[in-house]
Amino acid sequence: MTLVVTGGAGYVGSVCAQHLLDAGHDVVVVDDLSTGHEDAVPSGARLVVGDVAEVADEVLGAGGVDGVIHCAARSLVGESAEKPAKYWHGNVVTTIRLLDALRRHEVPRLVFSSTAATYGEPETSPITEDAPTRPTNTYGATKLAVDHAIGTYAAASGRAFGAVSLRYFNVAGAHAAPTLGERHTVETHLIPLVLQVALGQRDEIAIFGDDWPTADGTCVRDYIHVDDLAEAHLLALDLLARGEAPEGGHLVCNLGNGTGFSVLEVIEACRRVTGHPIPARVAPRRTGDPGVLVASSARARDELGWKPAHTDLDRIVADAWDFARSRAAG
Ligand code: UDP
Repeated sequence: MTLVVTGGAGYVGSVCAQHLLDAGHDVVVVDDLSTGHEDAVPSGARLVVGDVAEVADEVLGAGGVDGVIHCAARSLVGESAEKPAKYWHGNVVTTIRLLDALRRHEVPRLVFSSTAATYGEPETSPITEDAPTRPTNTYGATKLAVDHAIGTYAAASGRAFGAVSLRYFNVAGAHAAPTLGERHTVETHLIPLVLQVALGQRDEIAIFGDDWPTADGTCVRDYIHVDDLAEAHLLALDLLARGEAPEGGHLVCNLGNGTGFSVLEVIEACRRVTGHPIPARVAPRRTGDPGVLVASSARARDELGWKPAHTDLDRIVADAWDFARSRAAG
């Protein structure tokens, strides 16, 4: 197939593009390089630099595009509170314009990067796709709005268009060859921050709260290896290509391992993998953080036939560590 990956110069997008190339597909990456890196675009993919909404007609109008994986997004929770317009425009308006272009150019399938942040503070754990969606931050609200929009576009398109929204839990780890990993200019994610301590790039890691109602008092998250995440995108495209989208043409699937690890367990794993003592100190809770976010991945397993291969936390950290060290070594 010929597939377009928006945000293909970013962390998840570049790994998805690499998996698609490895599976023999033709790949066009669309990225405005505002947060992505040109050298992260896998060789073999064609790069179109530009805003997704601006270049969609040019890229899709050329014809022959079998599907789009839409990873391009604004994705900083804290920033989304300070700059809501950037998130409503960047995530919602842009995606509506992309949906319109998909319809204009009769592109039959879309896989969308959605998020566990659509659920907010869960009432039960693990979280199923039927759980209430009450996002606690603007980022999650924009992604939820897009999920709704995609559902209505798909429902109105009959069999001509199908879509899968993949709700990512905590994506981590790195792709080994070529090395593709997390390289955010503003880093907010736990594992890369902890590894910065091991690399001597920061003095300590702040633990955001140790009074959560969890076994050790720190927040629990469901960490999923980026290679497993990318594979789910390929399986979602396969499902849509087989015409097996559910009634209404839109499937929503959580992507997590179904196992939670606390902040302290992650720090311990980083200590084991790096051999560094990694000083940590308890800091106040971070606004908008739920205590526990763990996915039920039953639907992804049943509907997509997805089975994560790298569920071991030390393995996920070790891959992130290899990537962090290779970056630090230049
Ligand atoms: N966290 C932390 N210290 C940090 C960064 C994150 O204690 O410097 C915690 C955060 O409160 C959350 C978990 O680590 O419970 C994962 O946070 P991350 O930002 O990686 O992902 P999120 O779950 O917010 O998407």
